[in-house]
Amino acid sequence: MSLIPRKKVIRQVIATRQRLQAISVLGATGSVGVNVLDVIARHPERYKVFALSGFTQLELLKKQCLLHRPDYAVVPTPQAVATLQKQLLEEGSQTQVVGGESGLKFVAGHRDVDTVVAAIVGAAGLNATTAAVEAGKKILLANKEALVMSGALFMQAVRSSGAVLLPLDSEHNAIFQCLPSHAQHGLAHAGVRRILLTSSGGPFRQTPMAQLHNVTPDQACAHPKWSMGRKISVDSATLMNKGLELIEACWLFGARPSQVEVVIHPQSVVHSLVDYVDGSMLAQLGNPDMRTPISHALAWPQRIDSGVEPLDLFKVARLDFEVPDEKRFPCLALAREVADVGGTAPASLNAANEVAVQAFLDGRIGFMQIAECIRHVLDKEPVVAVTDLYGVMEADASARRWALGWLNQHYQR
Ligand code: NAD
Ligand code: MG
Repeated sequence: MSLIPRKKVIRQVIATRQRLQAISVLGATGSVGVNVLDVIARHPERYKVFALSGFTQLELLKKQCLLHRPDYAVVPTPQAVATLQKQLLEEGSQTQVVGGESGLKFVAGHRDVDTVVAAIVGAAGLNATTAAVEAGKKILLANKEALVMSGALFMQAVRSSGAVLLPLDSEHNAIFQCLPSHAQHGLAHAGVRRILLTSSGGPFRQTPMAQLHNVTPDQACAHPKWSMGRKISVDSATLMNKGLELIEACWLFGARPSQVEVVIHPQSVVHSLVDYVDGSMLAQLGNPDMRTPISHALAWPQRIDSGVEPLDLFKVARLDFEVPDEKRFPCLALAREVADVGGTAPASLNAANEVAVQAFLDGRIGFMQIAECIRHVLDKEPVVAVTDLYGVMEADASARRWALGWLNQHYQR
């Protein structure tokens, strides 16, 4: 893991002992957000909620505000601000409601905040996550799309602000746990040969290829091992999630794409592995429950109870590992391609994927057309070097236009 300044770590440990850590949870109403609040609620002596954000499930956000009593809540529109503020006042709550992207940036960079959980899904999380990085916060990163889009800028901002970046993604959290602290000076320096990212293979690992054209969004979202939001569930079914994670791993750990291997592991108890030059291979194991990586990152470098059952190895009994089939999962090959190309290519892939996944969830295209749409966009969209966030957003917008054009040409509205 790159760049966690030693002084900062010591400061964090002292701060944790002295006072409650104030946490902003961006994307509190989502699958990751709900798990984060579950862990926080187990440790009132350590953590307090500074802010919660929601986008659509505002009834849930209201309940979360009444339970966790944050200083701020963030909702998307002025109308939603007025509605939620009125409801909270009626309940005697002192939470102040703020709106829009400026509200998200405000609670991400606020001087009273120690830790920001970046758990908004997709490109929508980029600006708020960047605000937290620039403010030098401790960032618990779930929003992998932000890193995929703007990796070089993101990591540069982490270095210059002194932010502490900890991965919540279970695979990256596992790798972080298997690496020594001096790996921040380079994987070669730490004697690392390869990183192995595990994947359950998703719900269609063994579905006959011919049937993949007709699978439904609900089938795609019925993940065999993890319960997650709908976008990441479809990404897990296409293995685009693993492709995005490959790019995420390259940025987080300073790896070359060729150093990151994807391994299908249906039991989903080995969350990832690190292969060392001396022949040692270290792995992190646990039940597939996001509260483990969340607790690890929240308390790091200490350990706290997460509420997760200990892993029963006798119940697991066996561990299987398979090579991924790129014919079945073309999205994995597309992600590896853009990881090698670099520049704005990952931002274009991410944007095209977001549009295609939404079209699949809306019933406009079939499961196998997700990769076709992305292929089309990558063939059309020129790749340029990333110099600033503006360039990243340009590539994102342009890729979305190509993807929508392809959808309108090939499929019904
Ligand atoms: P989710 O769909 O359950 O929740 C997404 C959250 O983002 C919600 O709070 C929603 O209100 C908010 N949101 C959505 N669109 C928004 C917008 N335009 N502006 C502001 N807020 C918006 O998603 P999730 O499964 O919790 O995943 C969140 C992120 O974490 C994703 O990037 C995903 O890849 C990553 N992640 C998730 C898991 C998991 O187990 N769910 C594991 C690893 C990584
Ligand atoms: Mg993951």
